[in-house]
Amino acid sequence: MIPFIRLELADESIELANNVLKSGQLAQGKYVDELEYKFAEYCGVSHAVAVSSGTAALHLALLALGIKEGDEVITTPFTFGSTASSILMCGARPVFVDIEEDTFLMNPELIEDKVTYRSGAIIPVDIFGRLADYDRINEFALDHDLKVVEDACQAVGAMSDGNRAGTFGDIGVFSLYATKNLCAGEGGIIVTDDERLADRFRILRNHGQAGRERYDYQELGYNYRLTDLSAAVALPQLETIEEMNQKRLENAEFYNEALAGINGLKLPGIDEKRSVFHLYTMRVTEEFRMNRDELKDHLAVEGIETAVYYPKPLHLYPLYRKFGYKEGDFPVAEKACAEVLSLPIHPLLKREDLEKVVQTISSI
Ligand SMILES: *Cc1c(COP(=O)(O)O)cnc(C)c1O
Repeated sequence: MIPFIRLELADESIELANNVLKSGQLAQGKYVDELEYKFAEYCGVSHAVAVSSGTAALHLALLALGIKEGDEVITTPFTFGSTASSILMCGARPVFVDIEEDTFLMNPELIEDKVTYRSGAIIPVDIFGRLADYDRINEFALDHDLKVVEDACQAVGAMSDGNRAGTFGDIGVFSLYATKNLCAGEGGIIVTDDERLADRFRILRNHGQAGRERYDYQELGYNYRLTDLSAAVALPQLETIEEMNQKRLENAEFYNEALAGINGLKLPGIDEKRSVFHLYTMRVTEEFRMNRDELKDHLAVEGIETAVYYPKPLHLYPLYRKFGYKEGDFPVAEKACAEVLSLPIHPLLKREDLEKVVQTISSI
């Protein structure tokens, strides 16, 4: 069986986690501080604030920008649920923009149509580990006085022109969920160069205690803190993340070469921006011998686990249909959901695993 995701923690993670357990100090502490410091350095930003999840990170990012009831936030429907539910958490309205056919990324050309006087922010998503088109999105945001929150939950370490994922908007958000390229089980990190925003995140993650004294509740805050145990698990991974991301890229290159020319499969492109291939997602089009679901089942029988990211665009779920969205609103995202299939890409795959995947697909 070739698993879709596999993780082997380094001894150092286990050792640090042990230190936390032995110390008896299980809440936010020195390992969270160290993770924040080292993660900021890794991303090349002034501030990193650790929180309890990527979703909490998105929520606080929008809150700190002042997004509130009556506002609109522009994002893509082809993403994980909390990219958009974080908008709902602020009482604001999610306004979706369709994606590009080839990259699955938000299509910058379509943003203009969606801007109103209520628009407050854009959340582009670096989907599957690939950076969105920030040159165009930022230019547009500047012209229309919108803030940009980069959902980099899948893209830790991705790069363009020497800049890391998370640094392309006003705020970048990351997830440390168990399956992400850098993981703690649960957790998240918010990055920014704006000290005022970073201070806001620290207050909001800690019950809104804003004063020097404890229990000085000045505004509505949350308990979105990360535990030291989680930070201990994630911290040593910063030493190996480059190597792990490089393996993912090499695995993607292997697939792209070995699966090229198979009629009906559309493989993910690799461009000059460095994708970190959180997922390797191809399209199974009408011209292929099987449809997507048949191929998925066939591979499962052959012992190869695959996954569908995402089976349905967000606007077609009841939570978002309430806003009047319906089938046909975002045709590119809808078609993608019918065709996408993600192959195992994790760094622990062996050459023979990759070959088996390729052979099984080729022989169809
Ligand atoms: C994982 C993920 C999130 C949410 O992260 P959690 O840590 O699970 O809350 C948000 N957006 C995207 C694109 C993600 O992949």
